Amino acid sequence: MLSCREVCEQAQDFADGRLGPLARARIRLHLLMCRNCTSFVDQTRQTGKLIRSTLSRQQGSKVSPELMAAFRRKTGDDATD
Ligand SMILES: [Zn+2]
Repeated sequence: MLSCREVCEQAQDFADGRLGPLARARIRLHLLMCRNCTSFVDQTRQTGKLIRSTLSRQQGSKVSPELMAAFRRKTGDDATD
């Protein structure tokens, strides 16, 4: 059984589909039992999608401040809001 920390460390690779079948199965098993990691992986997936779609539209230009703000809101860094 993976720890929450291990799941968080692999969340980005999991969301991007870069993990092997065994690693994916272990994370899925953890997610079945852990709501915190489920929402963390969800956020990682959503944030990755947002960044990829914006980057593909901007084609090599810098990440916009608006996107960074959205990213921070998603990841909960901006707790003052
Ligand atoms: Zn967990």
